[in-house]
Amino acid sequence: MIQIKNIKKTFNPNTPQEVKALQNVSLVVQKGEYLVIIGANGSGKSTLLDVIAGNFLADEGSILLENQDVTQFADYQRSKWLARMFQNPLSGTASELTVLENFRIASLRTRKKGLKLGIDADFREEVFEKIKLLGLGLEQKINQPIGSLSGGQRQSLTLAMALMDTSKILLMDEPTSALDPKSAQMIMEKSAEFIQNFQLTALLVTHDLRDAQQYGNRLIEMKNGNINRDIAESKKNLSAQEIFGWFSEKE
Ligand code: ADP
Ligand code: MG
Repeated sequence: MIQIKNIKKTFNPNTPQEVKALQNVSLVVQKGEYLVIIGANGSGKSTLLDVIAGNFLADEGSILLENQDVTQFADYQRSKWLARMFQNPLSGTASELTVLENFRIASLRTRKKGLKLGIDADFREEVFEKIKLLGLGLEQKINQPIGSLSGGQRQSLTLAMALMDTSKILLMDEPTSALDPKSAQMIMEKSAEFIQNFQLTALLVTHDLRDAQQYGNRLIEMKNGNINRDIAESKKNLSAQEIFGWFSEKE
């Protein structure tokens, strides 16, 4: 579960470049909830994910992950709860290292000191079993450099990472925009399946309004650093046409 209360974030305060990226955002995302976030460029979608992940601290407000107050936590202190899929499949992984080593790094990220890349049989087995759940045969590739895999394969491994350790929150920021249409659809379907089957708490930022209509059980629209619309129960009755209409309205 994610609990965000009165979060504000201003970049370059008191300068001509000042941007109020998050004006005053409060949001609770329950375990098992799949929240889709849409909104114009610059409306604060990525900043919202960044403050959840701790890439930078919010200026004001509080953030709880799985009931733990992490407001002042650095990114590595929060990462045990989080798996993150970026727009660029190359982000968040080390290309030259194997799939297994990348999983190891992801799990070591939650420790401050004594970083070791020791991989024992139990760890290897856990990674193998988690990747197997994807049903893509990628468990056969755990000793290959992750850079030798396709973008879609790399994105799907992030889903398996969300099942490692304590991590149960999945953050996805335009995860399909650099993929071919077939891989993009595969990622959308696999993530929906994983979120449902493993009761992940998931946030998806997307520009694809059809995906926004089709996936998730709640939809928010961000506008100028605020939540402009928040649609939960009635989302299933919402048509893609209606969502398109929000963005053709005159200001
Ligand atoms: P979105 O993901 O909705 O397109 P962002 O959250 O990335 O929007 O950005 C919100 C606003 O904050 C934009 O005006 C953007 O230029 C600004 N912004 C984002 N990150 C930074 C940063 N690191 N430094 C300065 N301004 C930033
Ligand atoms: Mg963005």
